[in-house]
Amino acid sequence: MSDLPAQFTCFLVENAGRESHRAGIHSLSRGELPDGDLILAVKYSALNYKDALAATGHSGVALQLPLVPGIDAVGVVAASTSPDVSVGEEVLVKAADFGTRQWGGWSELASVPAEWCYPIPEGLDLLETVTLGTAGFTAAQCVQQLERHGVRPDSGPVVVTGATGGVGVFAVMLLHRLGYEVVAVTGKADRRDWLIERGAARVVEREDVDDRSGRPMLAGRWAGAVDSVGGNTLTTLLRGVKNGGCVTACGLVGGVDLAMTVYPFILRGITLQGVDSANTSREVSEAVWRRLGGEYRLADLQAVATHVPLASIGESVSRILRGEIAGRTIVEIGR
Ligand code: NDP
Repeated sequence: MSDLPAQFTCFLVENAGRESHRAGIHSLSRGELPDGDLILAVKYSALNYKDALAATGHSGVALQLPLVPGIDAVGVVAASTSPDVSVGEEVLVKAADFGTRQWGGWSELASVPAEWCYPIPEGLDLLETVTLGTAGFTAAQCVQQLERHGVRPDSGPVVVTGATGGVGVFAVMLLHRLGYEVVAVTGKADRRDWLIERGAARVVEREDVDDRSGRPMLAGRWAGAVDSVGGNTLTTLLRGVKNGGCVTACGLVGGVDLAMTVYPFILRGITLQGVDSANTSREVSEAVWRRLGGEYRLADLQAVATHVPLASIGESVSRILRGEIAGRTIVEIGR
C-alpha cells in the first residue's frame, strides 16, 4: 500500500440534479476509491461506444453515479488482499459491472474484486490486450458463433456492418484472417481503402444494407453477418441471408427495433444469434481470450489504434457518439 500514490486522477461522471449530470477529470485521494480485493495501477483503458454512453450519464449504462467509465482496463496489481492475485501481476479486468455499476478503467487506480481479473492472455502483451478489449472479444464471439452455426469460408460472403467501428473492424480482420470473403459496410466513404487494407474484399455503403422496400425477404446475398448496428440494418441482413445463414447481433448504434416477419426463419432456416460479451462465464471468457492470443491472433493491432491521454477523452466521447471514429481509441493512463 505504501507505494501507492495518495492522490489519483480519474474521469468522473456525477449527478448534477434534475436528471442532468456533469463529467470531467478529477484528482481524488486514495481513500475515495471504492473498496475491493485489489488495487490496479491502470496502464491503459479504451473508449467503447458503451463508455461514451456512460460518460454522458446514459441511465441504461451508467447504473450508479458517481461513476468512472471504462469497461476495459489493463495494468499492474499495486495492492492485493486476495490469495489469487499477487502484487506486480499484469492483468486485464473484465466484468459486467466494471465501468457501469462500479468504477471502471478511466482512472489511474481501479479497485476491483479479484474474480474480475484475468492474466494477460498468452501470445498478447498489455497493449495488444487492451487494443482488442471488449471490441475484439465481442468480434471473436461473433465469429465463433458463425463457425458454430456452420458458416464456413466456402459458404459465401460474410457481411460486417459498422465496419470501421471497434467491433466491426476486428470482425473484418478476424474473418479475413480465417479465409472468409468479407463485405464491409460503412458510412465513411473516406475509409474504403483502410477497410480493404484490413481485409475487406468489398466495401459497400450503409444504404446498401438498409432496405426500405417492405419486402419480407430479399435475394439471398450473404452466408453470414456480424451486425453492430441493429434496427432496419439488422432486419435487412436477416431478410437477405442465404438458406441456413446466420446473423450475429451485438449492437444498437442504428436502432433497437426489429420489425420484420418470420418468413426468413421458417422458409430459409436462418439463425439470429445474439451476442453478449458482458455476462460470459469465466470459463468462456478465458477460452475467447485464449483464441485471441492463438488461432485468432491478429498482427499489427496498432494500425487500427489511436492513443488519447485521459485528460483529452471528452472530445473522443463526442466523436464516437457521432459515429466519426474509425478503429480503436486507447486511453493512455499509466504514469
Ligand atoms: P463504435 O462506435 O466503435 O462503432 C460503431 C460503428 O457503427 C461506427 O464506427 C459506424 O461505422 C457505425 N455507425 C455509427 N452510427 C451509425 C448509425 N446511426 N447507423 C449505422 N451505422 C452507424 O462502437 P463499438 O464497436 O464499440 O460498438 C458497436 C455496437 O456494439 C454498440 O451498439 C455497442 O453498444 C455494441 N456492443 C455490444 C457488445 C455486446 O456484448 N453485445 C459489446 C461491444 C459493443 P461506419 O461508419 O463504418 O458505418
